[in-house]
Amino acid sequence: MDGGAARVAPLAKAGQGRPVLAPTDPGTIAYPTRLKNPTHIRRIVGYCDMPKSPWSVPVTTALHADGVKVADLDTSATPGFRGGKKAGELLLEQRRTVLSELQEKLYANGRSGDPRNILLVLQGMDTAGKGGIVRHVIGSVDPQGVAAAAFGVPTEQERGHHYLWRIRKQLPRGGQIGVFDRSHYEDVLVVRVHNLVPPEVWGKRYDEINRFEGKLAESGTTVVKVAMFVSPDEQCKRLAQRLDRPDKYWKFNPGDIDEREFWPAYQQAYQAVLDQTSTEHAPWYVIPADRKWYSRLAVTELLIDALTRLELDWPKAQFDVEEQRRRLNGC
Ligand code: AMP
Ligand code: MG
Repeated sequence: MDGGAARVAPLAKAGQGRPVLAPTDPGTIAYPTRLKNPTHIRRIVGYCDMPKSPWSVPVTTALHADGVKVADLDTSATPGFRGGKKAGELLLEQRRTVLSELQEKLYANGRSGDPRNILLVLQGMDTAGKGGIVRHVIGSVDPQGVAAAAFGVPTEQERGHHYLWRIRKQLPRGGQIGVFDRSHYEDVLVVRVHNLVPPEVWGKRYDEINRFEGKLAESGTTVVKVAMFVSPDEQCKRLAQRLDRPDKYWKFNPGDIDEREFWPAYQQAYQAVLDQTSTEHAPWYVIPADRKWYSRLAVTELLIDALTRLELDWPKAQFDVEEQRRRLNGC
């Protein structure tokens, strides 16, 4: 299903031409060429003869949902990454710049009529870090090119429509990176766990969602679906932190504690989502999210991978460059 290294765009050799854009492919790549001091990262990671990539396998392979058993997941793991927190944070700084450059190209092409766009779907229990991805990963790119939407309990108006109605309204346009903090998947997650509609209604939604996303892919949307998982203990810690800090009260919802009672039911509902809606055109990636530095780095790499596969170039000038230069009269 996932082409992994085979799908990664041709890479520049370290030190030549454009920066290397896909350091998650361990076979072919070097560190980002703009990493000021590559030995520094090697020293932090602690490998004296460390291979070229800090990833042992492409991130798309390391995180692919195929075969994942949610109940057995080690939420503190850092799949595919060879280093620890310091190396991860250092690398993330570099990769944010690469992401930002690619996003600018996507935006530029969109302005020139290219319909292609990216849709990042973030799912996860409360405190899994969805908001942190929006702030720290999507926050590294030009907000002009971002279409962000968060989906909460449907409003009365939304309840009067098909569950995909509110989703369609927020889809990214050509050149944009769309990000959904929760999504249409709530309609087979919270809805299933709390029996908000009968099983024969939510049961049909998996196929419907697959068809919906298939059409999105056909119309030029690369759908990147990320399921973030924290352990119950980590969630407890994060909820308690929210209560310790007045600047975090706004994030706290007493209902989040009630939802903890339903942990096994949510695990089952997430398992069904991964089993039934991870498709070739819109695969799920599963992110162990107890370590925020890892989940942010992993999502950054997934977005870089998706953008790299678009093989974007700068749009050609729609005017005669020389003529315009002459008109400026050498000012
Ligand atoms: P938060 O993301 O913390 O702002 O919480 C949003 C809440 O809205 C979560 O408890 C979701 O489960 C809930 N929610 C999102 N979509 C739906 C839906 N379609 N039906 C019912 N509840 C939903
Ligand atoms: Mg919440």
